[in-house]
Amino acid sequence: MTVVDLIERKRDGGRLTPGEVSWLIRHFTDGTVTDYQMSAMIMAVFLNGLDDTELAAWVDAMLHSGEVLDLSAIPLPKVDKHSTGGVGDKVSIPLAPMVTACGVAVPMMSGRGLGHTGGTLDKLESIPGFTSRLDPQTFTRVLSETGLVMGGQSETLVPADRKLYALRDATGTVPSIPLIASSIMSKKLAEDLDGLVLDVKVGRGAFMKDPDDAKHLAETLIGIGRAYELPVVALLTQMSQPLGREVGNANEIEESIAVLTGQGPDDLVQITLALGSEMLILAGVAQDYDDAERRLHQAVTSGAALDILASVVEAQGGDPRVVKDPALLPKAEHVEEFRATRPGYVTRCDALDIGVAAMRLGGGRERKEDLIDPAVGITVLAKEGDHVDEGQPLARIAWNDEGRLAAAKTVLKRAWHLAAIPATPNPLILGEVRS
Ligand code: URA
Repeated sequence: MTVVDLIERKRDGGRLTPGEVSWLIRHFTDGTVTDYQMSAMIMAVFLNGLDDTELAAWVDAMLHSGEVLDLSAIPLPKVDKHSTGGVGDKVSIPLAPMVTACGVAVPMMSGRGLGHTGGTLDKLESIPGFTSRLDPQTFTRVLSETGLVMGGQSETLVPADRKLYALRDATGTVPSIPLIASSIMSKKLAEDLDGLVLDVKVGRGAFMKDPDDAKHLAETLIGIGRAYELPVVALLTQMSQPLGREVGNANEIEESIAVLTGQGPDDLVQITLALGSEMLILAGVAQDYDDAERRLHQAVTSGAALDILASVVEAQGGDPRVVKDPALLPKAEHVEEFRATRPGYVTRCDALDIGVAAMRLGGGRERKEDLIDPAVGITVLAKEGDHVDEGQPLARIAWNDEGRLAAAKTVLKRAWHLAAIPATPNPLILGEVRS
């Protein structure tokens, strides 16, 4: 068997056996299968999908491409949350310390930015010194010391996803249900969890634009969890406009800290509480939603969640003073307002356009080797339902490079739609799927 035979079979709509899938992922991880061959393979998967048997083998091969953690020595319930990817979606950053403060261990393995969506790891790494590259021993030690760890795939933890993730980002193969599901679940199954909460994003700024596709993705994720006896709850949530007001990296850390000081924007706080409540109920530390919300509020008002964030930042090499003084985060050299050219109600504040604009500014990668500029970003000042006058700022752009600013503004010009009559706002939570 050669890799070309497998690529051709998948290209032509054929199936791979579990042994072939396992061979492919193993040899991609060790470098025998090259990036260009795997790029062709994932495009074939993107176009033709994977059937249930292929998907099960793909997940299992990715999961076992590295070490699977044994966290049995940690006596607390272990629950994590993962998002399928959105714009301004920094929920994991305030959520994880809030849930930890309620007595749940959160071994979080997150991702980097994918396409126009931001990544938790890129955002966290805007904190001076912070590293998300942890070997399994350090990952486990930070978790047992602080109750929380926020790492990423590495050479030893799910290395197949580390490589595939970067390749998908650069080859237009991200919005594929089997590739998203295997990427997420291989990381989550390696964490030795007792429960998992998923935030499946739906809308223009999500990889699933259509609610039926999002439901199918949720069911696929839950089905994988079921095969490994992992209880999974998925909320389907709105991603037509950015979540919160900040889109970028350092500015999203600042907004996450605002949630932990009780000053976060309503939509971000509401989604954080909804997902956090599901986590506490899955962990068995809250009896119902009221009890869970009360505990999460207490974690914020007592300052416990903020302290946990400072501890985990310090344990992962970052400057913990950032948590009390976000002015220590990187700042762009220039700030410019982007203004409405006419008055009206905002009927669209397009998450996809704003995500692409933030990427063009340098806040995301267009090629896998690109470096991120953590200081640039967009502050959304007018969201759906707001009324603006002519000349009123729709957004504030923090920028460092004039060429990049021009490219971002070209995209932003189409991001806002204004009308004489306000549109009915979209609900934030569209549905749920449970195992
Ligand atoms: N998050 C992941 O970890 N992988 C994806 O493919 C999408 C979101």
